[in-house]
Amino acid sequence: MTAAAGRPAGPTSSGSWHAPFARLPEGVAADVRITTEDGRIAAVETGTSPAAADIRLGGLVLPGLANAHSHAFHRALRGRTHGDGGSFWTWRERMYRVAATVTPENYLDLARAAFAEMVLAGFTVVGEFHYVHHRPDGRPYEWDAMREAVVTAAAEAGIRLTLLDTLYLAGGLDADGHAPLDRVQQRYSDGSLQAWAERAFASPVDTSLARTGAAVHSVRAVPEAELAQVRASLDDCGIDVLHAHVSEQVGEVDATRAAHGCTPVELLRRNGVVDGRFTAVHATHLTGQDIAALGGAGAFAAFCPSTEADLGDGIGPARELHDAGGRLCLGSDQHVVLDPFAEMQRLEGGERLRTLSRGRFTPAELLAAATEEGYASLGWDGGRLEVGRPADLVAVRTDSVRTAGTLLEQLPLAAAAADVTDVVVGGAQVVTDGRHRLGDVGELLTGALRPWDGATTPDHGRNPS
Ligand SMILES: [Zn+2]
Repeated sequence: MTAAAGRPAGPTSSGSWHAPFARLPEGVAADVRITTEDGRIAAVETGTSPAAADIRLGGLVLPGLANAHSHAFHRALRGRTHGDGGSFWTWRERMYRVAATVTPENYLDLARAAFAEMVLAGFTVVGEFHYVHHRPDGRPYEWDAMREAVVTAAAEAGIRLTLLDTLYLAGGLDADGHAPLDRVQQRYSDGSLQAWAERAFASPVDTSLARTGAAVHSVRAVPEAELAQVRASLDDCGIDVLHAHVSEQVGEVDATRAAHGCTPVELLRRNGVVDGRFTAVHATHLTGQDIAALGGAGAFAAFCPSTEADLGDGIGPARELHDAGGRLCLGSDQHVVLDPFAEMQRLEGGERLRTLSRGRFTPAELLAAATEEGYASLGWDGGRLEVGRPADLVAVRTDSVRTAGTLLEQLPLAAAAADVTDVVVGGAQVVTDGRHRLGDVGELLTGALRPWDGATTPDHGRNPS
């Protein structure tokens, strides 16, 4: 499929790629040459000869695909939590067990491998919702070692990163208000809004491939007094991007009603959090008023269909939110699978099951959610193959057992991560012919996950080394 001989693996100042087909903003075009300079697209030409480019790609080239919501360490839970039923809350117990044992060293390995798996699947940018930022006893690291691990992992794996540094102050919410942090949650907290802002945003990550954004973990974890100050605090630090988990579980909505007399979205709205820079993650259990509030503000909603199915969260009102003015994007969250096509297919599939009708989203709308809308929710202007945009490209086979015979416009509804052959991020070729520049990603994952072998099962747990 690909002739990439002689191509250096690292970042390059310029290069050109030829594809038999590419998905441009106006539609699929043939014989496309994309030239890049300094990590951005310098030219897009159609009707060109393959011989006139440095690298010949096969299949259909898509813009880079965005993973708007990730917790890299949750990769340690895949295939390890299905044995004894349970609920979101019992799953969370397992997740806390992993979170308690993450160190800067083992997290670097795990995040590097998880990010490499993402790139191999066609994700070119990730929003890492980062809340395990302190020592297990709640003390800060001397230098922000967990942040450094994430940033280093992303750079080595070759994925564009928005580090969503997360505010987490309380241990839960019920009718009596917020609970104190429990022992495991100590390491998620800076102790105060001011301490969070100073640690996270005094010297934000700001490179051509990585930047800092912010997150409020949820209304469960941040009291209203602090919610009311978040936007002003971020404005002082020059941070626009703000994400929050919202209404993933019915229990969260009920607790918010009992404590505050309103839904989580309404609580966020009345405290100035909901605007065009805000991303509501999950947005599963929304009222009509919530939909109007998010849509009217032009806020983003990051649906995570594979996780929402895995955890039994429910199916959010995606089409209604889109029609109200909300901007949809997609995330893999706990990485039950890492496959941007699966997320698109499950978003549409959930809508069909929920409404008993077909074609809830057009293939173009699904692709927009997976590309430019995800980029925008993370503060990047990528996800479109046009001049001036970040040079992030994904080549997908059109002749695999899954994709043979599909209309190119509908390929996202048929393809899988396994059909991705080549991935370019910031003008650098990271995946070539299905191989990541770091080597065998399965091997990387196997080694990186070793500290948690057995650590997520209730009866056979042991402390990771
Ligand atoms: Zn999440």
